[in-house]
Amino acid sequence: MEGLTSIERACVERAMDVDMLRQVEAWAAMNTGSRNLGGLNDMAGILADAFSILPCEMHLVEPAPVEAVDASGKPFAVAHGRNLHLTVRPGAPVQLLFTGHMDTVFPVDHPFQSMRWIEDGVLNGPGVADMKGGIAVMLAALAAVEASPEAKRVGYEVVINSDEEVGSLGSAALIATAAAGKRAALTYEPSAMPDGTLAGARPGSGNFSFTIHGRSAHAGRNPEDGRNAVVAAADLALRLQKGVGPRLSVNPAKIEGGSPNNVVPDLAVLRVNLRPATLEDQARAQSLIDSSVAMVAAEHDVEIHVHGLFARPPKPMTPPLESLFGVVKQAGADLGQSIGWQPTGGVCDGNNIAACGVPVIDTMGVRGGKIHSMEEYLIVDSLPERAALSALTILRLAGEGA
Ligand SMILES: [Zn+2]
Repeated sequence: MEGLTSIERACVERAMDVDMLRQVEAWAAMNTGSRNLGGLNDMAGILADAFSILPCEMHLVEPAPVEAVDASGKPFAVAHGRNLHLTVRPGAPVQLLFTGHMDTVFPVDHPFQSMRWIEDGVLNGPGVADMKGGIAVMLAALAAVEASPEAKRVGYEVVINSDEEVGSLGSAALIATAAAGKRAALTYEPSAMPDGTLAGARPGSGNFSFTIHGRSAHAGRNPEDGRNAVVAAADLALRLQKGVGPRLSVNPAKIEGGSPNNVVPDLAVLRVNLRPATLEDQARAQSLIDSSVAMVAAEHDVEIHVHGLFARPPKPMTPPLESLFGVVKQAGADLGQSIGWQPTGGVCDGNNIAACGVPVIDTMGVRGGKIHSMEEYLIVDSLPERAALSALTILRLAGEGA
């Protein structure tokens, strides 16, 4: 820690001193699958308690209403949990955003519910890396900064949402409001690689449901009077698939609908995921959707309703983001940590924050791996390591307000 001032050193040591493992074990023992509203509610209360050590104004914010489309093409309301939102020193010269998610991909009836030690220092458990470990790192770093004389230079908002693993549709508006005008944002997803490599550019992602209304008819007597919704859905899937290239991936994932063999089917719902590399590719994907829908509707004489959006816009590498990576890399170097970054194919709340024009590093959480699987693991030594990295990064960003 040669390159650190005495104030920085004291702050880093405080961050590393927190018993984060105890928090991770307590939090990972609670199921917080994105659809487990009871578990999420309990977790929100526990996190509100934990974060109340910060000098903050705190709210549990109700989710925005979200609609999805069922197999019969009908919209229905999707319930989400509440989101923890806190604000600290909104008048300070440097304003930052910190985000994390309390939900996991493991539903309450999933077999993966408990922790075990894979080996010394490697903990296997649901959400230990993604991202209950990251939340512990964030809190340790913020608490350490609060005890520093530099704290007065920096203010911030924290959002811990409850629906990140299902696309953040109930919390996207809250995140966007919190991101507005911020100097930078740090999000606590686990590192992109077990060695600590951060995620750089990310593609975007959009989920779409196309409800196709045709017309039924007898398959033998008057098929010419029918308008086959399943065939139209298949045609639409093929046309969208033609847009695939190095800068756009298209995955027609499911066709629902149909009818008995002797009836021309009048209903089908096609589900498609599209991932554009950049905002220009997203615009191209949107016009591919618009033109394909128009052509299929005309050629098959069917009606098509489009539901969905690019809820995760692409996160490109930009000069302000490069410079933020520079701050983290230098902080790492001064702590004896070598920090690199690379593009990755996944999406997260960092995409939404970047879309607000705020540079964001979204993998400030723990080192670990195999996330979204029953082999998910946390490298326990990375808890103090990453808390130190965050604390020093925050202090240095705060220093810009001097
Ligand atoms: Zn995550």
